[in-house]
Amino acid sequence: MTVVAIDGPAGVGKSTVARTVAAKLGVPYLDTGAMYRAVAWKALEAGLDPAEEPAMEELIGRISFELRTRAAEAEVVIDGFAPGPLLRTLRVDAATSRVAVHPRVRSWLVARQREFAARAGAVVEGRDIGTVVFPQAKHKFFLDAPLEVRVERRLRQLGGRNAGGRERLKREIQARDERDRRRRASPLRHDGSYETIDTSAGAADQIAARILRSVRAAETVKDP
Ligand code: C5P
Repeated sequence: MTVVAIDGPAGVGKSTVARTVAAKLGVPYLDTGAMYRAVAWKALEAGLDPAEEPAMEELIGRISFELRTRAAEAEVVIDGFAPGPLLRTLRVDAATSRVAVHPRVRSWLVARQREFAARAGAVVEGRDIGTVVFPQAKHKFFLDAPLEVRVERRLRQLGGRNAGGRERLKREIQARDERDRRRRASPLRHDGSYETIDTSAGAADQIAARILRSVRAAETVKDP
């Protein structure tokens, strides 16, 4: 079973790269950020504060949460509804990194991530995939890029939807990264078991090609 872990901070271009790698390897793509986003979105819909741990624990106890495979990608379905593009707003961005600090919310989602990848392997993208979700994975990549480059990428993604201006977006990305790096439960970090790649050094398809070369090279090395 092939599991490729791709971790890194916000706006680094993980999704485009991970999706390409998954398609070339012929395994499903799992965006774990969308899972945390879906819980945050549901909390906001219900008028709850994502920072409140007991409220979030109660929320995950009463919602139905499903990962549906659609066109080789996992789609989150929450209480029978697929929120899709509704997960990509600045409001949900900020709420998500607050939801993601709660250990019970994390372990609840991690169990689903492991279950999903156990079916047919996967390219799994997130913050803690190679450290916590699949620490034994043979293929781990940490994508990184300078903050300015990540802000530019996010601005392009948002198009006209970024009402707050460039500086505000930069502050929000910085705040989200800080929360992700500093939280006690599964912080964003990497170690020597990862191959680190600066995504400002090439286009997404070049980064994907580099990852594919590494994965294929490691797959041909026989385990002792
Ligand atoms: O990757 P994306 O930007 O969609 O992730 C949104 C947020 O979800 C992150 O800022 C982080 O707080 C949380 N997250 C996480 N662990 C993961 C994936 C995402 O804590 N594996």
